Amino acid sequence: MAPAADDSATAATPADIPSLDRLLNLAAVGTLIERHGRTFVTATLRSLLDAHRSTAKAGNLPRDALAPQAIATALADRLAFAVRTRLRALFNLTGTVLHTNLGRAVLPEEAVQAVTRALTAPANLEFDLAAGRRGDRDSLVEGLICELTGAEAATVVNNNAAALLLLLTTLAHRREVIVSRGELIEIGDSFRLPELMRSAGVRLVEVGTTNRTYAKDYAGAVGARTALLLQVHASNYAIRGFTHSASATELAALARTHALPFAVDLGSGSLVDLARYGLPKEPTVREAIEAGADLVTFSGDKLLGGPQAGIIAGRADLVRRLKRHPLKRALRVGKLTLAALEAVLALYRAPEFLPERLTTLRLLTRPAAAIEAQAWRVLPFVQAALGDAFTVAVAPMASQIGSGAQPVATLASCGLAIRAARRGARIESVESALRGLPRPVLGRIADKALWLDLRCLEKHDEAAFCAAWDGLRP
Ligand SMILES: *Cc1c(COP(=O)(O)O)cnc(C)c1O
Repeated sequence: MAPAADDSATAATPADIPSLDRLLNLAAVGTLIERHGRTFVTATLRSLLDAHRSTAKAGNLPRDALAPQAIATALADRLAFAVRTRLRALFNLTGTVLHTNLGRAVLPEEAVQAVTRALTAPANLEFDLAAGRRGDRDSLVEGLICELTGAEAATVVNNNAAALLLLLTTLAHRREVIVSRGELIEIGDSFRLPELMRSAGVRLVEVGTTNRTYAKDYAGAVGARTALLLQVHASNYAIRGFTHSASATELAALARTHALPFAVDLGSGSLVDLARYGLPKEPTVREAIEAGADLVTFSGDKLLGGPQAGIIAGRADLVRRLKRHPLKRALRVGKLTLAALEAVLALYRAPEFLPERLTTLRLLTRPAAAIEAQAWRVLPFVQAALGDAFTVAVAPMASQIGSGAQPVATLASCGLAIRAARRGARIESVESALRGLPRPVLGRIADKALWLDLRCLEKHDEAAFCAAWDGLRP
């Protein structure tokens, strides 16, 4: 055993652990009680002492871990960890702007304010203020949707999958729906069109081939049991080369001849032509309606840049039928969604300001040069935190829009590439330490480097991002 001075290195025994009551009377613990309440602090302290007791029994608890200050600090850490919310803000540096696993669209301040108002005071969710009687919650946003798309009517449900389910169940239950083989999509995490159709009690009639489908293929499949023609945006893949698909105009004409409705699932469904902002072209809802679609479904939290929702816009008589179906009641959205959606839709009235005001569009249109300048600004903070075990370099990158919009198009971007600089240094440990931060940083590992695409690091978050690296212990 080492000589005298090494008292602190001597292992403590369970008998050395101070009593719970004594510790609860410490001033530092009193401060924690004021913040978290006596019940929670006592329970947390008890579990800390239990853990110390087991470690002491095993002979592994250093004596200085039992100093009152050390216990108070460990208790404060445990409490802070326990009260951390499970749903956390993070830095999305994956390069995918509308990342489904990371909550898709980031909403603008206008939506936050509207949600706050709707949360903290009663609101006319289903009350017609002009008439003084019960109203329809859809009417809060229906006017705006019609104004922005040219549709006669609209209804809103939980998401686009729900929109399709409601549409298919209402209009085609126990009947047939014709879809091209090139459009039988699966969209991550258990959304498969054929399965959704089956659960709506609809018989799928596939026409054409994977790469080529003509209007005459649909025409040949129309029969007495046909309820609907459906066109689906291919979303997350592209068919290239020897391809053909029937146009919405052709399908609308065919549907009209047979007095059938024609529906289009646009998926991302943009409300403005993105080409005017220098982005790859995505079909707009207005274009689908002008081409003759009777109903169009699209998501609220993809390119639209709003909250999770599914919007169905189109012919008034059909929308009325959807609203009357009992499923509508089960799939409807709450006031928070409607508040946020109304605020975001209102921004579209001034398309010239959208690239500043609509967060999604602001992120998508950030010029690579601005992102590169930012990369040079934040690089020193990242390098300082990682030390000389890793190199950090500014590197060109290619962002993706995500959420099924333009799956093969990329946006020129820039960011940091982190690589191990010596044996034993592992970028995997940097990646996992970044995930463990109070505000996690998410990048992407490829080719033995950790890539942090800075497209989604907004100016107002830059200081917080630089500060976050201080807490890193890879
Ligand atoms: C994303 C997508 C859906 C599903 O939309 P959610 O809002 O995620 O339910 C359905 N169809 C298409 C074409 C899509 O791109």
